[in-house]
Amino acid sequence: MRTDSYKHIGRRYKLVDLLVGKGISDPNVLAAMLKVPRHFFMESFLDESAYLDKAFPIGSGQTISQPYTVAFQTQLLGLKKGEKVLEVGTGSGYQTAILAECKAKVFSIERQRELYHKTRVLLGELGYKVYLHFGDGYAGLPTFGPFDKILVTAGSEDLPDDLMHQLKIGGWMVIPVGDSQNQVMTKIVRVGENSFESMGFGDFVFVPMLKGTENK
Ligand code: SAH
Repeated sequence: MRTDSYKHIGRRYKLVDLLVGKGISDPNVLAAMLKVPRHFFMESFLDESAYLDKAFPIGSGQTISQPYTVAFQTQLLGLKKGEKVLEVGTGSGYQTAILAECKAKVFSIERQRELYHKTRVLLGELGYKVYLHFGDGYAGLPTFGPFDKILVTAGSEDLPDDLMHQLKIGGWMVIPVGDSQNQVMTKIVRVGENSFESMGFGDFVFVPMLKGTENK
């Protein structure tokens, strides 16, 4: 098991200061960012870089999102204690841990088998009680829905209909929508059985949300 030293904790305080400077103000989000040891979710050779505000490779061609992006998406979700949240794109599990620290009931889907297994072991070792699922996030998790909140951590070309219908009425989804070069952070509110409202919150770049599953 890796260690979380005073050096790491010191770097996290600096990172949180930087996030405050960039406009993150939700105390629950900031407390979670201060608590979760991001270096545990990255290769050990990246230990020194783990608290830079940057995305890094995590294997299988995927990335751990930039801390600002994680904080921004989590803040936009406006999670309340005990809410049911579905994350699409477990990846490293870092964002999953942040959601769990916000005291949500967390469900997360990953389409790459190796990442799913690796992250399942890590989150278990760290003591996070979250429900992880290997599958295609486009399908969501109908048997566990409806959800108060849905967070998509990969860039989608369109609004996934099945997912939107797994929101509770009044529920919110945060999803980056656009082409492979650029996506607009979008918040969708399900206002009725078949009616949704959408708002944009600036440009981001994510790895693409892909259909189906992969065994590597
Ligand atoms: N939240 C992650 C972000 C990882 S990058 C983190 O902080 O580490 C996005 C992830 O979404 C990748 O792991 C990718 O494999 C996954 N992904 C892409 N399309 C998906 C889909 N349709 N269903 C589930 N996961 C998907």
